[in-house]
Amino acid sequence: MHEFSIARSICRIAFEEAEKHGASCITTVCVEVGMMRQVVPELLRTAFGVASKGTTLEGAVLEIHSVPITTRCCSCNHFASCETLPLQCDNCGSNDVQFAGGNDLRVSSIRIAEEVSNEH
Ligand SMILES: [Zn+2]
Repeated sequence: MHEFSIARSICRIAFEEAEKHGASCITTVCVEVGMMRQVVPELLRTAFGVASKGTTLEGAVLEIHSVPITTRCCSCNHFASCETLPLQCDNCGSNDVQFAGGNDLRVSSIRIAEEVSNEH
């Protein structure tokens, strides 16, 4: 399952972040997933639940933000978000267009449970 390997990478990155902050419990993991990855959010949440079971990530909420596919025109260097194929630059009409984004998988932030509350 495609989503399961993504969930495992998310867990690995979140663990590293938690370790850096000395956190023992993570409440929320925010991820940015490029649309080119064609991830199904519900499947990713399910996979994340399985992958995080028995770890400091268990019970954490997975927030999924979709990142649109972006393209760059090789002729005029125009960046655009891509929703349709075939690819064509909407600035100069060139077909010489490359993908510039939307293939990323990134943990944008994690939220950590506060063990001691000092706030008044
Ligand atoms: Zn162009």
